[in-house]
Amino acid sequence: MDQIVKGLIKDENIIVAAAVCTETVEYARKIHDTWPTSTAALGRVITGAVLLASNLKDGQKVMIQVKGNGPLQEVVAECDWLYRVRGYVKKPHIYMGLKGEKIDVGRAIGKGFLNVIRDLGLREYYQSSVSLQTGEIATDLAYYLNISEQIPSAVSLGVFIETDNSVKAAGGFIIQTLPETKPEIIDFLERKLSEVQPASTMILSGMDPLEMLKEAVGLPIEVLQTSKIIYYCPCSKERALGAIITLGRDEIQEMISKGQTVDIECYFCKKKYQITVEELKNLVKEL
Ligand SMILES: [Zn+2]
Repeated sequence: MDQIVKGLIKDENIIVAAAVCTETVEYARKIHDTWPTSTAALGRVITGAVLLASNLKDGQKVMIQVKGNGPLQEVVAECDWLYRVRGYVKKPHIYMGLKGEKIDVGRAIGKGFLNVIRDLGLREYYQSSVSLQTGEIATDLAYYLNISEQIPSAVSLGVFIETDNSVKAAGGFIIQTLPETKPEIIDFLERKLSEVQPASTMILSGMDPLEMLKEAVGLPIEVLQTSKIIYYCPCSKERALGAIITLGRDEIQEMISKGQTVDIECYFCKKKYQITVEELKNLVKEL
């Protein structure tokens, strides 16, 4: 079972969270039929969204959208306060080989932007973006937190893919300082993190999220919350109809004139919805 642990390094004013997302990312790989480079990028963005969700209040959601000029084009993941996460990659069939021992996600993403969209409930959205630094996602997310939210942070994200293309390990951790964090502790953590093994290696060796955190920071951790992570898509026929309404009257009239049932596929879970001509006519009446 996939899990996230959120904790506190009490006397040092540091918030930490680590997640093991192996089953969730493997599930995403299966529904999107992704190839290794696409799987790694999607897995890192999914894990990033899960880690950012550790700062949410009840009813809130966070979405990470990575858009680049590389072959993957776009990777998106959204996670809510209950760690229900979903995601997609625009081009699922990308495999670009390795850079050293690692999958070359940076080259597959290219240059572009990382957007973070927070749904704070009550139809209130907060969106902020930064230009991609490496396209490797973890460094980009840390850069976003440092620049956009002024929270000096370290982020590690990793996906290990088996020779049969399945996901053998996926997860990561995030370390966030508070305004009161002492500079010497930040220096200590920076040194510690530069030596620490990658998140995917920790998970491959069987570590759970709390063990990953202890390994990463080398200080005692007070656990604040342990939660399970699941892949979940809240799409429905009503939402599919809502998406068609946004196309506007002319577009819908054109669909009606073709006299055919319209198939809509959810980006996130691949579920298909059939919209009949009759339903399209009802939508026009509503407009
Ligand atoms: Zn869906």
